[in-house]
Amino acid sequence: MAHSSNLEGERPNFVTHLECSMTGERYEAGQLHGLSRAGRPLLVRYDLDGVARALSRADVGQRPTDLWRWRELLPVKHAENIVSLGEVETPLVPIPLSGGPNVLVKDEGRLPTGSFKARGLVMAVAMAKELGVTRIAMPTNGNAGAALAAYATRAAIETVVLCPDDTPEVNIREIAAQGARVYRVNGLIDECGAIVGRGAAEGLWFDFSTLKEPYRIEGKKTMGLELAAQLGWKLPQAIFYPTGGGTGLIGMWKAFDELEQLGWIGPERPKMYAVQASGCAPIVKAFDDGVEHAERWENAHTVAMGIRVPKAVGDFLILRAVRESGGAALAVDEDEIIRATADSAAQDGLLLCPEGGATLAAYRRALAVGMVDAGDEVVLFNCATGLKYPLDDRSKILDKDNLPNLSEL
Ligand SMILES: *Cc1c(COP(=O)(O)O)cnc(C)c1O
Repeated sequence: MAHSSNLEGERPNFVTHLECSMTGERYEAGQLHGLSRAGRPLLVRYDLDGVARALSRADVGQRPTDLWRWRELLPVKHAENIVSLGEVETPLVPIPLSGGPNVLVKDEGRLPTGSFKARGLVMAVAMAKELGVTRIAMPTNGNAGAALAAYATRAAIETVVLCPDDTPEVNIREIAAQGARVYRVNGLIDECGAIVGRGAAEGLWFDFSTLKEPYRIEGKKTMGLELAAQLGWKLPQAIFYPTGGGTGLIGMWKAFDELEQLGWIGPERPKMYAVQASGCAPIVKAFDDGVEHAERWENAHTVAMGIRVPKAVGDFLILRAVRESGGAALAVDEDEIIRATADSAAQDGLLLCPEGGATLAAYRRALAVGMVDAGDEVVLFNCATGLKYPLDDRSKILDKDNLPNLSEL
């Protein structure tokens, strides 16, 4: 029977274990984990044969479209541990003029706290609650901290959030407003992360850095599941993803494998394009150099704060997915990011965040050099609402007591 909410009713759980993404070493489910013993991210594994027996594509199609329609492919055991703020399915919005006739934007800015960080954090916080965590700390460029603060506060978990001191002001204030203790740090996100790691080692809190706990990937994975369902179980030919820590790209790649094992999609995969800014492009450099790990990027700078990540612990997972897919890692310049963001708003009425603008800029480059074709169906990820970022003032002054001829407006 269909329930009116995906958070009601029985929740069969199909998690079998966790696994080191590097060595394959096995870890028990139902216990608190950070990185693997090899210092790498852990991946959650499911009994997918069991899921296939319990659930069909048609069953999923009957459910309300929010993130929890995928519960059999998610790690949370008890629904009471989920603090939902309304994790809606995000729309695919065409941008025919600034992008092209076959370009869709998955607009993640519609999610709670205005970014797709909500997908990862609603899951990670539910699992933290399920596993008894009472105090969490996190380094953030803004959006992850906001989502953590919102969900953790609702789950009655204390949070300490460290941001680089040039994080957009609205993010810093939002994080504090939603109940976290927020600190501005005179360093980049990985330097904030080192402080969080130190406190975690002293037993002061649980470390919620990107990929240092296993469940954010599972939340972000729902982007790939959703995309498949929205496109009639046929994936697009290319995906452009603004890549910082890479959680979403790694998560979607995992989602596609799980869907194939369920028999819900075939072996075809989109070409995955990891998009970075020229001012912070460690993954692009590693891709171009043909190596498996990226070096720290020095003097990182870009307006696209969400992808200003000089060092990613899951670098090899990003690079592996991009290479297996036949895609590429692409860097775009600041002026291209700014122009693409402005074009989408002015021509198609869709206000992207700069990270989303970077994916449009990368698509334009890929098109220009023939990596993709104008006829290919392409999905760009806009990962946050453009309203969280400073906007240019293009207004003029009108004096109500001294009006010009109104036909001049
Ligand atoms: C965090 C973030 C990204 C990068 O996401 P990852 O999955 O960590 O690579 C991109 N854009 C925005 C707006 C973000 O907040």
